Amino acid sequence: MVPFRQFLLKIHSRCNLACDYCYVYESADQSWRDRPRVMDPRTVRRTAALIAEHARDHGLGEVHVVLHGGEPLLVGAARLDALLGVLADALDGVADLRLTLQTNGLRLVEDPALLPVLARHGVRIGVSLDGTAATHDRHRRRPDGRGSHAGVARALRLLADGPYRPLYAGLLCTIDLAADPVETYEALLEFAPPRLDLLLPHATWHTPPPGLAGRTTPPPTAPGAEPEEPVPYARWLGAVFDRWYGAPRRETGIRLFEEIAALLLGGTARSEAVGLAPVDLVVVETDGTIEQADSLKVAYDGAPATGLDVFTHSFTDAARHEAFRARQRGRAGLAPVCAACPRSAVCGGGLYAHRYRPDTTAPFAAPSVYCPDLAALIDHITTHLHRDLTALGAAARPLSR
Ligand code: SF4
Repeated sequence: MVPFRQFLLKIHSRCNLACDYCYVYESADQSWRDRPRVMDPRTVRRTAALIAEHARDHGLGEVHVVLHGGEPLLVGAARLDALLGVLADALDGVADLRLTLQTNGLRLVEDPALLPVLARHGVRIGVSLDGTAATHDRHRRRPDGRGSHAGVARALRLLADGPYRPLYAGLLCTIDLAADPVETYEALLEFAPPRLDLLLPHATWHTPPPGLAGRTTPPPTAPGAEPEEPVPYARWLGAVFDRWYGAPRRETGIRLFEEIAALLLGGTARSEAVGLAPVDLVVVETDGTIEQADSLKVAYDGAPATGLDVFTHSFTDAARHEAFRARQRGRAGLAPVCAACPRSAVCGGGLYAHRYRPDTTAPFAAPSVYCPDLAALIDHITTHLHRDLTALGAAARPLSR
């Protein structure tokens, strides 16, 4: 059993945006409809106590708590302050508490009381931004249809510069093939993110990603070989990689690229997107139910459910649940085609949700619907690293004689 180290708390289940690709409201799982809007104080106290118990029982020196939604800042400053106080008290003397919050940013401007609360509790803030105003507003719109980019940009200016800069964790950008990749990257750079991540749109073989309708399971190509079918996401990401990697100085970190590079060099990755590390993230919904990662909502209604909750189960019970154990088996948990793939240590079969294929007997035992794109992207990054390491080796040779 692998203990959890990341606890994602759904502190508010509704949102002030109506993004067209949202996996919470627009995908197969519709469980949000039956959930309370806000995590109540009793659920917060119970969850905090269980996190502390889990840290104590498994000797964890550090735990990560991610405040999430919906839009988590809709809870308001007073409730947020109280919630963070409960978490801090529960973990005091038990484990270091690392706090982050993922937000669309709008409430940071609308409610000036929020940032001081987040600063007082040392909460690092990730903001969702999809690139230029045109790209962002194509998807991330308010319920009345207005775009949200202008509001998010105001929030990001509060974080990018000035006293709240230490709270700024970075940006999350969902890839839109209709947007120019380099223009998207440069639009993100305007807000000086310490780090960013580029997310493949959540999709499955049953509900394929934009631009990949009709994709069939391909045999993996040999490393370095030309893909046999179009790989638009690899091309898009490859263009950003070239711009980012070729910059004369480091402009920001890009998590996906850094993790692939680390894995290629024999290191580890922390995200679920790549690599074979066992899953160590658990979700607690506003009603206290314990679930798997949100991305599974794209598979089918109820896909993230475990049947467990914080009032009758511990996180150790959850970590022993077959749903989590299935994602802690490394290469043994992969589809046969992935287990035999020369890129599997880096790719890891892709995000678990993206493997969902309901027309098979084991619906998650398929390669990712992004398989050819992942293979092509890994090959692209491999080529660059290999070239530079070879050049470094050549440069070092005279000194080593
Ligand atoms: S999903 Fe990844 S590990 Fe599986 S076959 Fe494709 S490239 Fe290889």
